[in-house]
Amino acid sequence: MIERHVTRIIHVGPLPIGGDSPIIVQSMTNTDTRDVDATVSQIQALAAAGCELVRVAVLDMAAAESLRAIRDRIALPLVADIHFDSRLAVAAMEHGAQGVRINPGNIGGRDKLRRVVDAAKSHGVAIRVGVNSGSIEKDLLRRHGFPTPEKPHALVESAMRNIGLLEEMGFCTIKVSIKASDPMTTVSGYRALSRRTDYPLHLGVTEAGGLVAGTVKSSVALGILLHEGIGDTLRVSLTADPVEEMPVAYGILRALGIRSRGPEIVSCPTCGRTRIDLFTLSREVERAVATMKSNIKVAVMGCVVNGPGEAREADIGLAGGNSVGIIFKKGKIFRKVAEDELLAVFLEELKKMDQS
Ligand code: SF4
Repeated sequence: MIERHVTRIIHVGPLPIGGDSPIIVQSMTNTDTRDVDATVSQIQALAAAGCELVRVAVLDMAAAESLRAIRDRIALPLVADIHFDSRLAVAAMEHGAQGVRINPGNIGGRDKLRRVVDAAKSHGVAIRVGVNSGSIEKDLLRRHGFPTPEKPHALVESAMRNIGLLEEMGFCTIKVSIKASDPMTTVSGYRALSRRTDYPLHLGVTEAGGLVAGTVKSSVALGILLHEGIGDTLRVSLTADPVEEMPVAYGILRALGIRSRGPEIVSCPTCGRTRIDLFTLSREVERAVATMKSNIKVAVMGCVVNGPGEAREADIGLAGGNSVGIIFKKGKIFRKVAEDELLAVFLEELKKMDQS
């Protein structure tokens, strides 16, 4: 049983984050934010795959001014990612950003930070304090050294200092992230931070890598932290289409028994008994279930001899044979189908179950 660390609740737009709200899955677009059509289309694809909050990079004034047009066409709360430039943060909020991710310490001094905070207060915008191992202040690095799993202090102190800057200005609608590219530094950093603050924490491993490396690092770091009850929102950063982050994020949450979204797929690794192209079948089934909503369990198994038995807890499954496959439900044969029709018939049956 996971006992969740107690955090206060903030809202990004209408979305609650922290407290006992569900752990939110978020992502970031990789389109040019000034290209409204491309950005909206990627956000819609992310939303269809389960993303619940989206961040866009705001590099210049034209990008900030695009936010209104983007927000008008999407249903997800919109966060602007800003580095260094307070004018962009203020403009982003004036044009509809419901959250901004900044590093208060490098936004240009107290006066400029004050303008950002005033804009956040008047527009009801949340601020994410986004510290990562590359953005730590020099004096903290001198004092604590570069963050490591044994000594993550510089990350934590940087976050606390940045939180303090906002609190001094009477601003508390804050969430915090302290990302490192090393998974175990990320773990020890968030552990230490969660003992120091009750603001909601956004989890992530920065520069995690491509689909395989990024999935492994994020699963280890986020899995450990979530299991310890730490984390209110998360992003699985991958060097890939951001839509690919969604099944990984939900896979981590599902494996921990925290949240599930859509069908769960179990599939066998194949062996010498396999007489069917199970890799293609499995990929196609994965693609088909990505936008389904029900929590059914789906099995994709390589042989009729062992498949249905090994996956008897699945609500529905397929198993390959010699030019003929079977569809089974709860371990019992439901239909035999010629191999070349197996996928189509199976997907049809799957769709019916998802909609029932
Ligand atoms: Fe091998 Fe059949 Fe088990 Fe798949 S289900 S691993 S093909 S025995």
